[in-house]
Amino acid sequence: MPELRPLSYSSLRTYLECPLRWKFLYVDKLPEAPRSYFSFGRTIHSVLEELVRPFLVPEAVPRKSSGAAQRRLDEWHGGGPMVEGRPDPMSKDQLLATYDRLWVKEGYGSPEEETRYRTMGENMLLRYYDQFLEERPRPVAVEEYLQSSLDGIPVHGYVDRIDLTSSGGLEVVDYKTNRDLSIQEARDSDQLAMYQVLVEHNYALPVERLTLYHLRTLTPHRTPARSAPVIAELSQKVGDVADGIRNERFDPTPGRQCERCDFRALCPEFREVPPEERLRLEALVDRFAQLRRDGEQVDEELHRVADELHGEADRLGVHRLPGRAAVAIRRRAEEWSFAPDGVRPLLELHGLVPRASRLDSQEIQRLVRDRSLDPALRKEIAQRGGRQVRWYWELDARDGND
Ligand code: SF4
Repeated sequence: MPELRPLSYSSLRTYLECPLRWKFLYVDKLPEAPRSYFSFGRTIHSVLEELVRPFLVPEAVPRKSSGAAQRRLDEWHGGGPMVEGRPDPMSKDQLLATYDRLWVKEGYGSPEEETRYRTMGENMLLRYYDQFLEERPRPVAVEEYLQSSLDGIPVHGYVDRIDLTSSGGLEVVDYKTNRDLSIQEARDSDQLAMYQVLVEHNYALPVERLTLYHLRTLTPHRTPARSAPVIAELSQKVGDVADGIRNERFDPTPGRQCERCDFRALCPEFREVPPEERLRLEALVDRFAQLRRDGEQVDEELHRVADELHGEADRLGVHRLPGRAAVAIRRRAEEWSFAPDGVRPLLELHGLVPRASRLDSQEIQRLVRDRSLDPALRKEIAQRGGRQVRWYWELDARDGND
């Protein structure tokens, strides 16, 4: 069984999306092609790190293993948002010079694309700069590498920023440069949950807030720290992934992630048919596609004609319509549905729960039809359900007038 190295959030997500892609990346260590959004994200993160780092007072916050730092924390609490003596921020010109210096060029499809990103990043950083000075957060760490474990499985990651809150807890901040980001994504984010675990394991202060900071709109999507059941769910996922890795379960799992997967040439899901088989298979696949299209058309036509026959049967007040090869006979079917909570008290009162223990609609319908039960009770049960009548056609070839 291979030794399990610590799982990062991105490794966890990759395995959950496709175990085979995980293997290509983390076992075979195959390189991925650079991409514009990765390069852009890296640049912005690096610039923000340089902007924020001078304001750090990491020793102000107690670590799980540290006692001495606690004294400085009181200074922070008394110090208001910006503590006296903190350094001046870099100027806007310095910010732009840093941006130039740290710009990652790889991955852009054309010089025009690179220029577009570059201009967007410049605007984003200048606006964020103003916001940063206005908000005056109290960062205690930037781009910090942390390790922990979940149910004995090692996990690790770089946390973009950790701030001290006004109530003396911690806020975990993750910058996002995506086009769109919603508060729901922040609420559902496993990445934030994992960062909470990492920070709580290493810091002696509670995590109060988890934030995805959407840089394009300068929106901090703030959510409360995750509850114990949510962390337990994350732990379950981490445990399942660790099991899969240990047992070398690396099946391909195709999905939307295949669009950005660099390993399609190696993936059995995308293996090419040998050229000599191609012609024969193309014909077979095209025939299949044609039959499926025909079937869908026939299905549509079938429904349309059945509806037309229902119309004729209603108009004439009959249930048998003669054809030359068959007779169409109209049948009636009833479908009942019962909400378990609506019917349970009545069944309990009359000791009928053992006869409908699953409380599903079919069982209850059987009780309604059971003539050995009191008719008033059957009626009362029926009233707690909803009935739908469906008419359908049967064909009897023997009655045809041929
Ligand atoms: S192409 Fe799709 S299925 Fe194949 S390894 Fe990549 S992500 Fe997985």
